[in-house]
Amino acid sequence: MLPHQQIITIDGPSGVGKSSVSRRVASKLGYTYLDTGAMYRGVGLFFYRSGIEVDDEAKIAPRLKEIDILLIPPTSTNGDVGVILNGEDVSAQIRTPEMAMIASKISALPCVRSFLTDIQRKLAQSGKIVAEGRDMGTVVFPQAAHKFFLDADARERCSRRVIQLREKGIEVDGEEMLEMIRERDRNDSRRAVAPLKKADDAQLINTTVLTFEQVCEEILSAVARKAGSTVHPAEPK
Ligand code: C5P
Repeated sequence: MLPHQQIITIDGPSGVGKSSVSRRVASKLGYTYLDTGAMYRGVGLFFYRSGIEVDDEAKIAPRLKEIDILLIPPTSTNGDVGVILNGEDVSAQIRTPEMAMIASKISALPCVRSFLTDIQRKLAQSGKIVAEGRDMGTVVFPQAAHKFFLDADARERCSRRVIQLREKGIEVDGEEMLEMIRERDRNDSRRAVAPLKKADDAQLINTTVLTFEQVCEEILSAVARKAGSTVHPAEPK
């Protein structure tokens, strides 16, 4: 099977349930889960620590080559993909609401996007990947065989996020969280390069009214259906 036939893209706004769904789908299929948001958070942390304004492309572009970013499998304690940034485990530091905002700002820079897009494509070279993010189906893997776009009402996404953060011991105010989610939605969907949007050939799934199990089931059956209809007829006898 060609690598792109084994790439599943799952895009959507923050708090929509992409990470847990992607993780489950990947584990059911024995695929690798690629959390691209974690990469943007890692790059955001690097420049935040360097004291460089996250919109200062002239200062950021030449320093991207100093970044070595590695994803590590979810830990048993919190279930999130971890990040090793230049040899340091920054898995906990990147998961705060503040780092999410920084990631959202820095991700608008074309130099940062092309830096991470290259890494993401290399990681998916041999297929068998569930790639989760904002531009997986539109820009990074436009040739992917299986594309999904998850969406949900902003208030619903906000309450899910508040619960997730609380489970990690981070307390946040619900209204502030809602404002952050709306601001990230605006940043992500209005930026000039690789904005958050559904690929024309992606299947839209509204997770507001579905359970986690139902969303995973919907994706897994769509993948099985398509693989069945496209792969078998082409197989040599
Ligand atoms: O998915 P997560 O909330 O970890 O992503 C953090 C931020 O990284 C998002 O708000 C978005 O701005 C950015 N991002 C992106 N493209 C991706 C993944 C994440 O722009 N493929």
